[in-house]
Amino acid sequence: MASTLTDRLSRLVKTMRGQSRISETNVQDMLREVRMALLEADVALPVVRDFIARVKDKALGQEVVASLTPGQVLVSIVHKELAATMGEGVADLNLATQPPAVILMSGLQGSGKTTTTAKLAKHLIEKRKKKVLTVSADVYRPAAIEQLKTVTKQAGAEWFPSTPDQKPRDIALAALDHARRHYFDVLLVDTAGRLAIDEALMAEIKDLHAAINPVETLFVVDAMQGQDAINTARAFKEALPLTGVVLTKTDGDSRGGAALSVRQVAGAPIKFAGVSEKIDGLEVFDAERHAGRVLG
Ligand code: GDP
Repeated sequence: MASTLTDRLSRLVKTMRGQSRISETNVQDMLREVRMALLEADVALPVVRDFIARVKDKALGQEVVASLTPGQVLVSIVHKELAATMGEGVADLNLATQPPAVILMSGLQGSGKTTTTAKLAKHLIEKRKKKVLTVSADVYRPAAIEQLKTVTKQAGAEWFPSTPDQKPRDIALAALDHARRHYFDVLLVDTAGRLAIDEALMAEIKDLHAAINPVETLFVVDAMQGQDAINTARAFKEALPLTGVVLTKTDGDSRGGAALSVRQVAGAPIKFAGVSEKIDGLEVFDAERHAGRVLG
């Protein structure tokens, strides 16, 4: 079992007892421990490097307050930087627009997009008392359209039909028109995902985004993807103005490092976490609590 960041830092704090100043060696020792712990938590290497550089900047030249030991000062710098990277508190969905508020779901196939669309519908109905419509713009997999229909029913939301011979942007525009006419508060647009990033997929979702101008563009990513999550996040961020991330399958990810990587690369807050396969297995993401999990 790998040592958690907290274990590593507390061992270090002990070795620094009795010192009154932070030495260059103390900082180097601490950075090494932080680096090891983050890599063990499966945080992506570029994100670890960036994090280390920021902690180093803050730690060098840091005055030690009389009441604190050098070890305590260094630990508090790490904690603060971790919380800043993860984002603070809870970031809810932005629905402040002329209804229907359109939410575009993006991400790779298998990331949990369709399941998450239904979970979000349920969340919006129950927690925010919204009237919710879903639609699938996945014209490549008829089964995906059927799957959305089934899970939308479980969520207690309404589903707008689409067929594989339609263009994704036409589907979305027809659903938007329906949502307007029938006074829906929210339209959730599920999209096609490929198994890997490809140009055609990105061009299509960009076109879809331009057509429906969503108030939220969510990137759905599987926490179990580990290091690959970062490349996926980067590609989607380049293609779309992401407003939030949904980190799925966190129930299978004990180390929690994906959140740190994805938050940093996507440049948008993690708004929800998937915690089970069930329709109610979605939680509002609490960054501080998650930072605590990474610290261990
Ligand atoms: P899509 O291809 O992106 O639409 O992915 P799906 O919604 O079909 O999900 C793929 C698989 O992941 C399904 O078996 C889901 O039940 C499962 N899944 C989605 N979210 C979660 C989650 O938060 N936890 C767990 N354990 N499984 C999930």
